[in-house]
Amino acid sequence: MDARPLPQHPESNAVRESVEKKALRYIGERRLTITRVDDTQVTASCRGVDGVYAIRWIPEFLSWECSCQARGKCCHLEAVKMVVTR
Ligand SMILES: [Zn+2]
Repeated sequence: MDARPLPQHPESNAVRESVEKKALRYIGERRLTITRVDDTQVTASCRGVDGVYAIRWIPEFLSWECSCQARGKCCHLEAVKMVVTR
């Protein structure tokens, strides 16, 4: 078995928190800022553990994009979805 270095990400060592729960916490901690909402665009920023991530809705693809490296759904996007309804 290969020895893998421990992840550098501080959150990786924390007790696993669900994406939804974390998103709620981010909202509660006022980490989320919605910068623009109109008929076609949503942009927001979310302060994560190691920086501020940019989140936006891409109307061409009908999908969300976040600047963090997480695969699939991330807490930043979940936080935005909790406060933006379409
Ligand atoms: Zn993200």
